[in-house]
Amino acid sequence: MKDPPPRTNASGPTTLIRASGVADERGLLVAPGGLLVEKAPDGMLVHQLVEGHAQAGADRVVDLRDHILVPGMVNAHCHLDLTSVGPLARPQGEDFADWLQKVRANRPQDDGTIAASVRRGVELSLAGGVVAVGDIAGCVQSGPTLTPWRTLRQSPLEGISFVEFFAFGRSVEARLQLVERALQRAGEDRTMLGLQPHAPYSVNLPAYQRATELAERWNLPVCTHLAESVDERLFVADAAGPQRTLLESLGIWDEDELAHVGRGRHPVEHLEPVLSRRRWMLAHVNDCPDDAIQTLARTGASVVYCPRAHRYFGFGASIGPHRYRVMMERGVCVCLGTDSIINLPREADDPRRGRMSVLDEARVLYREDGVAGSTLLAMMTTNGARALGMDASRYRFESGRAVAGVVAVRSGHVDPLSELFGGGEAPVRVVV
Ligand SMILES: [Zn+2]
Repeated sequence: MKDPPPRTNASGPTTLIRASGVADERGLLVAPGGLLVEKAPDGMLVHQLVEGHAQAGADRVVDLRDHILVPGMVNAHCHLDLTSVGPLARPQGEDFADWLQKVRANRPQDDGTIAASVRRGVELSLAGGVVAVGDIAGCVQSGPTLTPWRTLRQSPLEGISFVEFFAFGRSVEARLQLVERALQRAGEDRTMLGLQPHAPYSVNLPAYQRATELAERWNLPVCTHLAESVDERLFVADAAGPQRTLLESLGIWDEDELAHVGRGRHPVEHLEPVLSRRRWMLAHVNDCPDDAIQTLARTGASVVYCPRAHRYFGFGASIGPHRYRVMMERGVCVCLGTDSIINLPREADDPRRGRMSVLDEARVLYREDGVAGSTLLAMMTTNGARALGMDASRYRFESGRAVAGVVAVRSGHVDPLSELFGGGEAPVRVVV
């Protein structure tokens, strides 16, 4: 960024965004200072970083001298179709399996309400400075649905919509046929489409293997919920606990499943055969011993950590602190997600000031764990892009290249990164 490219690169009017500072995954790049940019079809073309408040030969100036500029953010794990449910009180005395049942009961089921819920989720994401998402297109009672994918493609957001499915016990074959049919219905242009087997207690290992084959056939990114709770570990290792009870009560449990679960394996070890075949994005991985971290690093899997969801469910008490820093030290790409609005605070859904933002997730890690600003910026931008298989260079400021978006957050110039993460100011997308 030190050598500005020749101005002849400019094809349209340029804008200088003056700010208290500019930061990306490398940390604070200038303070005070701003960006010389030009509107581009795929975001904003960055001409150069500008130190201080010089005019830099711009055609126009946007004065945000009391704001820091950061790249548009990536929310790598969300459930936009659950936005209409809104934030719900933290589960008290009920176990994780009960809570999941509550989500299933409240999930919108028809195309119109699903699309409206996703659109509201898109609005709240944009209000949170998010420009790309890893969104889960939740499985409805009739089977996998493409409605969230179609809705997301019509929105200003980039990213992947992961079509979710369940396939366990007696219904596996029928469920997998529904998945295959849904993917065929998507047609030739599968841009932004991905696949998500829900979790190891709702999708059995052979169905994960079939999902991997489908993803290979259609070249789809894959993600799943993994190693989220103590219940999950109990189920995978011992075929016991509330998840087993739930499957039995739904009439889904089949004794043949004991070929895959109840063999003493940790959930990461259980999925190792499919993790080795494709680069997976794994939501949560709250429960992750050293061996499991080694498997993640070896297989190139990425982890999406959702700090506020972790606290909402009390996983710190039931499992222990999330091991995201050890994962990163050992070469695992860790990014941030909000999970669904259900586990976010009430103000996330405020009609005027509501937002769903990974900046608020990063702020939790800054306050509680003292994580460096540059690490947090990587987790909320480039790491998310890498985990979703997107071009990470669009989520940092590089001269001569387009950035997916520029976001401003109110902060002074003395220590703008501390103010960015230590405060609670709302992100605002900069439009030129
Ligand atoms: Zn989730």
